[in-house]
Amino acid sequence: MDFANSGSLRRPLSWEELLAFLEASAVISPQRSAVLLELPEADPIAAHALLQRASSFRDGLRRVFLTLIRQETPKRETVEAINELLRVTEGHDELLFDGARWRIEFVARENGLEWLLAAVARSAAEIVAEGAEARVRICANPDCGLLFYDASRTKRRRWCSMAVCGNRHKVASFAKKHAGTDRSG
Ligand SMILES: [Zn+2]
Repeated sequence: MDFANSGSLRRPLSWEELLAFLEASAVISPQRSAVLLELPEADPIAAHALLQRASSFRDGLRRVFLTLIRQETPKRETVEAINELLRVTEGHDELLFDGARWRIEFVARENGLEWLLAAVARSAAEIVAEGAEARVRICANPDCGLLFYDASRTKRRRWCSMAVCGNRHKVASFAKKHAGTDRSG
C-alpha cells in the first residue's frame, strides 16, 4: 500500500524515490541502497528497465486498490500487474550447507532486479485476495489522494494521517464555523 503512495502521483517514480521506498520498507539494506544509487550510471539499461517497471507497477497497484475502494472485484487485466511480478518469484527449495549445518533455502530461478518488487506484489496479492473484506481506503481529503489500510478497531478511519489531513480538516471546519459566527454576530 505504501508503494502505491510513493513518489508524486502525477509523474513517474524517480530512481531516488524508488530506493527510498525500498529502504524504508526494509526490502533492501542501507548498504545495498547506496550501491543501487550508482546503478543508473553503472548500468543505465538495467536501472531504466527497473524504474519503468516499478513506475507502471505503482500505477497498476493504484488502479487495483481504487477498484477495491469502490467495492468492485478487480478485472483479470487489472491484477495482471501483480501477477507478472509474482511470476518472477519462481524457484525451488534446496539444501544448502552454510559451513556448520544444512539449511533449506529458497533458490530463485531468476535473480533480476524485479525481485525487489516481488515482496510488494505478494503483499498486494494478499490484499486483493481479501476481496470485499479488504479495508483499503482513500484519504477523505480530496487534495490528498493517499491510500491506506484501515486497521482501526472501528473500521472508520478517514484520513491518511490524523496529524496531517485529519488536523487540516479540523482546523478548516473550525475556521468555517468561526467565520459563520462572526458574520451572524
Ligand atoms: Zn491525506
